Amino acid sequence: MNDKRIEITLENKIPDHLIREVESKLAYLDETVKVGKVSPEGGRIQLDLKQSLVELEITALKKKVVRLVDSMIRDTYEPKVKILEDHLERGVKFKDDPMPGLVKKGEVFKEGEGVFSLGPLLTHLINYFERKFLSVASDFGASPYRFPALIPAAFLEKVNYFKAFPHSLSFATHLRSDLDVIEDFSQNANCEDGGLSTDLHSFAKIQNLLSPAVCYHLYFFLMNQKLPSDSLTATAVGNCFRYESSNLDSLERLWNFSMREIIFIGRKQFVLDQRESARKTMEQFFETIGFAYKIESANDPFFIGEFKQAAFQNAFQLKYEIRASLPYKNSTLAVGSYNYHQDFFGRHLNITLPDDTFVHTGCAAFGLERMALAYIAQFGLDPKDWAEEVRREMP
Ligand code: AMP
Ligand code: ZN
Repeated sequence: MNDKRIEITLENKIPDHLIREVESKLAYLDETVKVGKVSPEGGRIQLDLKQSLVELEITALKKKVVRLVDSMIRDTYEPKVKILEDHLERGVKFKDDPMPGLVKKGEVFKEGEGVFSLGPLLTHLINYFERKFLSVASDFGASPYRFPALIPAAFLEKVNYFKAFPHSLSFATHLRSDLDVIEDFSQNANCEDGGLSTDLHSFAKIQNLLSPAVCYHLYFFLMNQKLPSDSLTATAVGNCFRYESSNLDSLERLWNFSMREIIFIGRKQFVLDQRESARKTMEQFFETIGFAYKIESANDPFFIGEFKQAAFQNAFQLKYEIRASLPYKNSTLAVGSYNYHQDFFGRHLNITLPDDTFVHTGCAAFGLERMALAYIAQFGLDPKDWAEEVRREMP
């Protein structure tokens, strides 16, 4: 018997539409879990552990599984998936996993879990996409902004982020301003098992987190303001941080990634029209480069127990994802999203229009590393095999 594997038979089966979501949350179940899998019919869970556990620990772990599954099943709903575009059948040229080739060519260097440096080919490709996104943003009359990588904890609290996504938060701190603490750290700090072994009391209270998204910064910028006109369109690129807990070995899933956003602020109809118009503009662009993808309604990966929000997003079609084909896996990956937040940020942050109504907001968001990865997964590592439109723009 494998003492690093636990099998749990569930009293309440996991419905089909929830299996992937439960699997992704198993990564946050317990630090001893390496991989968690749900059986295809949803009746059993298998956990592969990093170490063998004693009976008492196994019982506690099983209880956690049941707690997680039950709270996820409780408020569940079957999402109605709406597909706005389907270009998955486009003839892509490449079928292999591009990661080994990218590593071999010195195009990807893994600094740590979910933390990667990129080489010249990927950087040129990302710069190419960036030029396109910027030209689309400029067609919308977007004003450029620059935002920090840190975001105050108090801001995220204001928009319920702690409740919705606690599992993916990344915290920033520094040493306490105390000579004893600083001297002790400078003399004794060392890394063990891939991490800093420092007394947690040496760290100051957390004021900032690493920012999980770009457009939030603009909403905070405008907090408690009445806009001088009926709409504002902006664009910014930034580093985003979301701790994903597992599968952090490829560019598919990063702890630190970058996102280009085009942000629309105004009345409901303005935001919905601009979001739709952004999608249509991008549809033409994707066609010119032969990109295989679909656009599908989606919801954000809320923490367990926040299913009402997911159902709400789904019912009101608040989020559409650009899901690019990954031929080597015969599956798709979200490379971008078109979002509509209704007047959520307007209300929570008191941002109003000249007529004193709360602003509605929305954004088109593109994950730059995933765009480049998906393109290379479809067309290969050699620019000779890329669409003329893309190749022409490579140095
Ligand atoms: P979202 O705000 O969740 O719709 O994210 C916008 C885009 O950012 C996604 O479509 C992805 O392209 C990218 N993204 C989100 N999370 C990650 C991640 N963990 N690693 C890499 N890219 C990500
Ligand atoms: Zn956004």
